[in-house]
Amino acid sequence: MTVRSEDGIHIEAGRTYVADASSAVGDVNLVSHAHSDHTFRRTPETVVCSAPTAALVEARTGATLPEFRDGTDEVTLYPSGHVVGSRAALVEPDGADRPDGAARRYLYTGDFSTRDRLYLEGFDPVDADVLVMETTYGKPGYRFPEEAELQAEIRDWLADNPDRPLFLFGYSLGRAQKLQRLARQATNRPLVVHDAIRGVNDAIETATDLSFPAESLAAGEGDGLAGDEIVVLPTHLARSDWVTTLVERHDGLKAGFSGWAVDESFRYRGGYDVTFPLTDHCDFDELVETVEAVDPEVVYTHHGFKEDFSDHLATHLGYDARPLLGDQTRLDDF
Ligand SMILES: [Zn+2]
Repeated sequence: MTVRSEDGIHIEAGRTYVADASSAVGDVNLVSHAHSDHTFRRTPETVVCSAPTAALVEARTGATLPEFRDGTDEVTLYPSGHVVGSRAALVEPDGADRPDGAARRYLYTGDFSTRDRLYLEGFDPVDADVLVMETTYGKPGYRFPEEAELQAEIRDWLADNPDRPLFLFGYSLGRAQKLQRLARQATNRPLVVHDAIRGVNDAIETATDLSFPAESLAAGEGDGLAGDEIVVLPTHLARSDWVTTLVERHDGLKAGFSGWAVDESFRYRGGYDVTFPLTDHCDFDELVETVEAVDPEVVYTHHGFKEDFSDHLATHLGYDARPLLGDQTRLDDF
């Protein structure tokens, strides 16, 4: 068996299982959630993902997914607690590949969080022999407050600033919907979201029984804001000229939401007045707890602090752990 990283994660175990690649080249192709772009240039034999992920990928990219299935005889999907529709995959290949005659079980987490958050249930780890995990916050400095405490702080801030428009920044799929929920819980102020977020809201509402009522705002618009609104915008627009002008004109406050908020630099990069470490990933301790719960023979780490985290597992906890090299390490927070 081989596990390697090269345009997605490849698990060779009799057949080739490819997860989260931009191009489907495996015998079985997994899409863990709707954050990455999937083109499927070659029509794959099988695409495995959840129904909400298929709907969200289509809504976000305009692409039509080939026929998907939410599991096969060898692949079982489990909610991974990252965003709506996100799934971890347990791969149990048909055939013995262990010295004792059994078949190894491979757990691919995709992006994941073990915390129950608003409308999402956290990932519940399952047993496996080989764990392939994302380690975005795989350094001990990345420890976040308890979820209830963090959400209460955010609601307090939202309620404490009634006289100025509030501009909240988060990714269009994930943080943006949670911010809408928190805003609704904290106040009855009008809620306005960027067009791109409205599009994701619509796709989620079609694919699930969740609902996110909010007016939409296109880039370049906003002169008509009355000043009592809470406006939710995609993170990448935090420093755009349009947003900067809008915030200044209405004397608004800007808030950024990400696990990277534990770094002071996050606040300056986004030009935020305030930041909160609200995330859709595990913090360092939750990553360690996940490894201990899965109790694998081997751990492969990818994304973020993959080297630091595998070193920690090997040095302090005695695991056979190694980073998957060769991919593009991205320190973003999808
Ligand atoms: Zn993601």
